Amino acid sequence: ERFSPNPIEAQPTSLFARAEKRIPGGVNSPVRAFRSVGGTPFFVRSAQGATLTTEDGRELIDFVCTWGPAIHGHNHPRIRAAIADALTRGTSFGAPHAGEVELAELITKFFPSIQKVRLCSSGTEATMSAIRLARGFTGRDRIIKFSGCYHGHSDSLLIKAGSGALTHGHPDSAGIPAAFARETLVLPYNDCSALDAVFTAEPDTIAAVIIEPYCGNVGFIIPDPGYLAHLRKLTAKHGTLLIFDEVMTGFRLAPGGVQELEAITPDLSCLGKIIGGGLPVGAFGGRSDIMDALAPSGPVYQAGTLSGNPLAVAAGIAALLLLEELNPYAQLDTLGRQLRDAALAAARAKGIPLQVPQCGSMFSLFFNAEPVRDYANALKSDAALYARLFHAALARGVYLAPSAYEAGFISTAHAGEAIDRACEQISAAIHEL
Ligand code: PMP
Repeated sequence: ERFSPNPIEAQPTSLFARAEKRIPGGVNSPVRAFRSVGGTPFFVRSAQGATLTTEDGRELIDFVCTWGPAIHGHNHPRIRAAIADALTRGTSFGAPHAGEVELAELITKFFPSIQKVRLCSSGTEATMSAIRLARGFTGRDRIIKFSGCYHGHSDSLLIKAGSGALTHGHPDSAGIPAAFARETLVLPYNDCSALDAVFTAEPDTIAAVIIEPYCGNVGFIIPDPGYLAHLRKLTAKHGTLLIFDEVMTGFRLAPGGVQELEAITPDLSCLGKIIGGGLPVGAFGGRSDIMDALAPSGPVYQAGTLSGNPLAVAAGIAALLLLEELNPYAQLDTLGRQLRDAALAAARAKGIPLQVPQCGSMFSLFFNAEPVRDYANALKSDAALYARLFHAALARGVYLAPSAYEAGFISTAHAGEAIDRACEQISAAIHEL
């Protein structure tokens, strides 16, 4: 029989129907499918400033900001120009180039805890590699992560809490061997006594603790004062490396991330999102003595064909230089407060319990009577009500995160008309619930 290619549809079909036929679930990353809020995702034709334009011609004020990177808004002319300029010199070299050095110098300038940094192509690679490095450096296998924190989808980190005193983890996905999961202990976030208990039971077996110092992956949670300092003290005492996953928060909440805000020095940090200016970049770095354990200086292997890609690095440098020039953090916090206050006022008027944790340009909307301190609290929020808000806001031209358990992001491009209109429309959407 002759091979015949897939028959071309005679009738025009919706993009999502075509996507579902050829891409699992129709999407290349699960949350894009709107499974948790229901409905069918829109397709983006273009993105400019604070606005997404969909294939069916709608304009949406975007509070997802490509899940964090777009702190300057979409398609910023300076970043676009930097990519265009780099493009004239080639798309990938597989050999060292000056841009890598410049981005490494910029990262280490803003993150004093990062003495040396290795670039990779995603946040997942950054955290996966930081964990391997911590294990190789300490000679220990066990790691600790926290419920609700997401660190990408490597096997050691896609682990959820099990039951029992030591909370040995369980795979949070099919395809992860239980034997891997046993090496990851999962603790409740923001709970000093749970940490104390583990380090009492396992004083010298934990290679690393990895944490989102402010958590942006179960909604947005800021830990209690003193929690991160306690974690720093305990890990230092036990020879355990402290890894701050600042893939979301790095350069977003402050130039030096949460570690700058909280004055805590982790041993290793993971970055991504903003440092790629909207192109694929991740990075991990920290103390020189630890980083020197990486190949080719040391025994811990890590590599990447496209690591330090010249286009991505050029975009990242442009994004960071623009942050340095504009220092937009006070302005972003004003925008965040405006949105928070509008949503809270609307919910109060409507008599709906709403929590809006917010710091700078990150926030989330929890329909919850109690302030959310951890994953268990977050899960008590009314996700069905959030789904209704999501669709009411979308109908009014505002794109909130398509899940009750994702943080929202604001960009400098939201200043002015976009934030005012978004606040009006979100308030009206809450009123409609
Ligand atoms: N760490 C954190 C804190 C993240 O928020 C994410 C992604 N949202 C990752 C790691 C993984 O990054 P990536 O999606 O680029 O692999």
